[in-house]
Amino acid sequence: MSTAQLDHYQMVINGARVDARSGARFDTLDPYAQRPWASVPDADAADVDAAVAAAKAALRGPWGELTGFQRAALLRRLGDLIARDAQRLARLETRDSGKLLREMSGQLSYIPQWFYYYSGLADKLEGAAIPSDKPNFFAYTRREPVGVVAAIVPWNSPLLLLTWKLAPALAAGCTVVVKPSDHTPVTAIELAALVEEAGFPPGVLNVVTGFGPATGKALTAHPDVAKIAFTGSTATGISVAHAAADRLAGVLLELGGKSAQLVFADADLDAAANGVIAGVFAASGQTCMAGARLLVHRSIHDELVAKVVARAESITLGDPAEPATEMGPLANAPQFEKVSAMLATALADGATVATGGGPDPELGGFFVRPTVLTGVTPSTEIVCEEVFGPVLAVLPFDTEEEAIELANSTRYGLAGAVWTKDIHRGHRVAHQLRAGTVWINAYRTVGPNVPFGGYNHSGLGRENGIEAVYEYTETKSIWVELTGATRDPFTIG
Ligand code: NAD
Repeated sequence: MSTAQLDHYQMVINGARVDARSGARFDTLDPYAQRPWASVPDADAADVDAAVAAAKAALRGPWGELTGFQRAALLRRLGDLIARDAQRLARLETRDSGKLLREMSGQLSYIPQWFYYYSGLADKLEGAAIPSDKPNFFAYTRREPVGVVAAIVPWNSPLLLLTWKLAPALAAGCTVVVKPSDHTPVTAIELAALVEEAGFPPGVLNVVTGFGPATGKALTAHPDVAKIAFTGSTATGISVAHAAADRLAGVLLELGGKSAQLVFADADLDAAANGVIAGVFAASGQTCMAGARLLVHRSIHDELVAKVVARAESITLGDPAEPATEMGPLANAPQFEKVSAMLATALADGATVATGGGPDPELGGFFVRPTVLTGVTPSTEIVCEEVFGPVLAVLPFDTEEEAIELANSTRYGLAGAVWTKDIHRGHRVAHQLRAGTVWINAYRTVGPNVPFGGYNHSGLGRENGIEAVYEYTETKSIWVELTGATRDPFTIG
């Protein structure tokens, strides 16, 4: 396809549509059609500087003067506009990321709820009036926006994961510079147009497109970025945290996972099998919360594996835009290569392929068959490391203690599930899992009002819920002297 046929996008800086100052551009690929479909600017440090300057200036402009009630009204309007354009945005996400249109349609019709939820908090960011321990003083606190937020998002759910940052940051009164993934840069630009239409002042949301090592790094190193909200791999998250530490910027990190689904002998096996499918094959396994390890009581191992394998083999692979399709391709070439390499290592490490095991020979492209591996060893790569693809590793256990030990024997800690009909065991085990989210007899349910984030190498801080809006505020304490009296200047008191 010639460059002239590609959809031509520009970045959004201070409300203006701009190209990179260098004029550099890159193409984004439709992973199903396997060809470029849009062209976006490749921002360098000078473009990032302009975007951060716009965001910083906007804090001091009309946006900084708005009350929480006024920010709430803007957030509600933005939610309405996203709801109006949900189908159009869903199609764009599918084209850019290869994710199923049926999943993206669901996500896009749900995303407005985040803006409605945080609009409900924008006017409730209250400080406290604190009873003083000194009779001549009164103290109170204010919650102030942290300032310019850098939102760096990956390719697996571009708009949803941006929303998890944008809605609370805007509710708190911050301004934002977004760097979407180079694999899925388009929908952040489209969202910026809706932010403008909703009436947010210029500079409140800016979008710079480009690659991690240049554009992303320039953003994380920028001295005027007060907080970096990042979703992506653990390795990149650690380097982002290093960059932030150099100048003591705040970080909110949502990173990788290797979540476990624990299935006990008394579980409803059909429901558990369905949950296992949802956990690891939905979105072709490309979700941070993928339930990629199945820990199953030895007495039901074969029965449950047979159910999961039967359903995995009936999964319809194909065009992500077709309503009947259940699994699309992987989102990009590096991801396809990573999953293929990890499967080869797993086989070399002695795993047994219960189903799948590699690329789909008929569909070609970036398609990988839904894969179930048994006979794996706890210390091998396929059990310990994030695949971010449709690959399930199955391990048997004999006791509840062993199941918990296995579940927690990972450097990650994002999510997990317990399948049992025993209400005591359900809660007891959930409490002992070292993970930020645990479902009991369910998987892959999230909501705007429930905190989400990881333990250990799965992240720092929480998105969603009331906690998330506080991630974007500083608490200021104000002491007021009430009597006008002077005091000994050489004592603290
Ligand atoms: P990544 O962590 O490399 O990139 C995520 C975002 O960070 C992208 O926007 C990228 O451009 C940017 N980035 C990269 N290097 C940067 C740097 N040095 N400084 C600042 N920003 C930088 O993830 P990816 O390339 O999108 O995917 C790679 C792997 O990450 C996947 O194989 C998968 O295992 C994992 N992943 C995890 C999640 C998750 O939600 N946990 C999401 C996507 C990918």
